[in-house]
Amino acid sequence: MKLQTVIQAMNRIAPPQYACTWDTQIGLQIGNKNAEIKKALVTLDITSALVNTAVKQKADLIVAHHALFFRPLESITLHSPLGKNIAKLIKNDIAVFIAHTNLDAAPDGVNWTLARRSGLDPQKCEVIEPTYREQLYKYVVFVPAEAVEAVHEAIAAAGGGYIGKYSDCTFRLSGTGTFRPLDGAKPYTGRQGELAKAEEIRIETIIAEEKIGALLNAVRARHPYEEIAYDLYPLKNSGRTYGIGLLGRPEKNSQYAGYKKIAVASGSGGSLVQKAWDKGAELLITGEAGYHDQLLAAELGLELKICGHRETEEIVVPALREKLKTECPELAIL
Ligand SMILES: [Zn+2]
Repeated sequence: MKLQTVIQAMNRIAPPQYACTWDTQIGLQIGNKNAEIKKALVTLDITSALVNTAVKQKADLIVAHHALFFRPLESITLHSPLGKNIAKLIKNDIAVFIAHTNLDAAPDGVNWTLARRSGLDPQKCEVIEPTYREQLYKYVVFVPAEAVEAVHEAIAAAGGGYIGKYSDCTFRLSGTGTFRPLDGAKPYTGRQGELAKAEEIRIETIIAEEKIGALLNAVRARHPYEEIAYDLYPLKNSGRTYGIGLLGRPEKNSQYAGYKKIAVASGSGGSLVQKAWDKGAELLITGEAGYHDQLLAAELGLELKICGHRETEEIVVPALREKLKTECPELAIL
């Protein structure tokens, strides 16, 4: 499959708009989007050992959480570990794709995985530091009765009609549609120049802004009309918030059941001490925290559990492999 197709799948798994604004090193760091990809290697870090493995295993793509290079490159010197890795990757036609803070924030991403491990239900958690607020739209489409189920399926598959833990949320109303096919039209029913009336179902649902393009394409593929009548209304309903760190009440059977509210922040989450405290957390589970963050936590009375940067993040790798496998079944994933 084309690298571009894998990129689109990754962008559905970890939408780039969820990333922190400073995190500009996400997406394709090395590679040609038109290249053919057969084998991908999913990892936390791109080390020299990992690059050697990718070469040995004949991988075409490395998907990593931490960027290969964080700053703009001033030189690629082949005596430095980074330069050597870049050269080796390019010589062996291995592309590099990064999902960093967007993967931290994504559903089933790093913080969701860490939250589940810590006895929290991520669906019920509050985000500590929001990076993206979903804009919701009402989508209304008019469909002849015989195509209703097909269009419904298309809407649901494209991510329309999700409300909390419910999918397929729509409302259907039947009525009469009118139209007059003009010169050159190829109507599904009715004749050119004549006013036509058709029994139609109005399907209405809710959709997040970033999924509208996919929804319109999916409906276009299943709706029988030459011209599809539809409306999109921006809503004032607040959509889901995505971001860094989660907090909530631990499940009754978890090891943290004694706490009213706990927070998790993967990687270096020490900077979230104050915000986690302000939102009522009694405990913050994170990967690393600097001296001053630890001092602040002690002053506030916020308990800190520091579990290691890698330990709080590598747990996402198996979950990411599974998601990518589902999105790209023809791709071999290591
Ligand atoms: Zn990290």
